[in-house]
Amino acid sequence: MRIVLLGPPGAGKGTQGKILAEKFGVPHVATGDIIREHIAKRTEFGCKVEAAIAAGNFASDEDINYWVSRRLSEPDALSGYILDGFPRVLTQAKAFRGTVDAVFWLDLPELSAMERIAGRWVCPQCSTVYHLTHCAPRITGVCDWDSVHLVKRPEDALDKMRFRLDYNRSQMWPVAEHYAALTALVIIDAEGAAEVVTERILHALLATPLAKTDF
Ligand SMILES: [Zn+2]
Repeated sequence: MRIVLLGPPGAGKGTQGKILAEKFGVPHVATGDIIREHIAKRTEFGCKVEAAIAAGNFASDEDINYWVSRRLSEPDALSGYILDGFPRVLTQAKAFRGTVDAVFWLDLPELSAMERIAGRWVCPQCSTVYHLTHCAPRITGVCDWDSVHLVKRPEDALDKMRFRLDYNRSQMWPVAEHYAALTALVIIDAEGAAEVVTERILHALLATPLAKTDF
């Protein structure tokens, strides 16, 4: 199963990516995780992208394409993958070489997206995502799985949110249109609890024949 998850920040791409990856036994490949790993290890790419994020920018398409391709060539991705946050812009989508079975756009109104991002905390160790009101950890500020202190992602800072939401709308929607023209694009209502959204995705997978498109 090779799935691409698109949608605005806060739509639940990471949460759904993890659930679907587990369900289909394939890796959840999130550009955000790849970037965070590089930053934590202080690699050349990590330091470069950290400076870009601090300035409210993103990693370059060239770097992202390179690191995603490398990840997808690893043995565990041979039988499939869930791509989360990639391709983020049209140039990345056009440069991407791989197979895609289904593309989902997780659709969320802007106010809901802002509310989700504002309450979002993540575990820097295992990447589990929490929300202050919808999905709080058992002990405030601490990960349920490994007791590591939760952090706010730098890109979730309130002053970056407006830019991210606008940028996303102008950059990621053309990616969705690109896939809509080439293969099946399914728009999923991303409001509500994570398990309800998962049900909608699984239902859509059953209802829509897999496109199996090679790029
Ligand atoms: Zn954790």
